[in-house]
Amino acid sequence: MPRPRRFYDVIRIGPVQVASYYDGHGHTKHTATCTAPGCSFSTDKHDRAGAELAAKTHRCQP
Ligand SMILES: [Zn+2]
Repeated sequence: MPRPRRFYDVIRIGPVQVASYYDGHGHTKHTATCTAPGCSFSTDKHDRAGAELAAKTHRCQP
């Protein structure tokens, strides 16, 4: 799996991975990405809690 950014604090909630990373401009961002096959869910949040909430409430498309 390519890792274009330096992710840290990577956790998994169900099929969704939550990670934080530096955007290269002095900011930390938080992303939630679903790893389920066929699901392209991915979202960036400004705060970690928001990313984790998005992961917890995500439901894969049928
Ligand atoms: Zn999904």
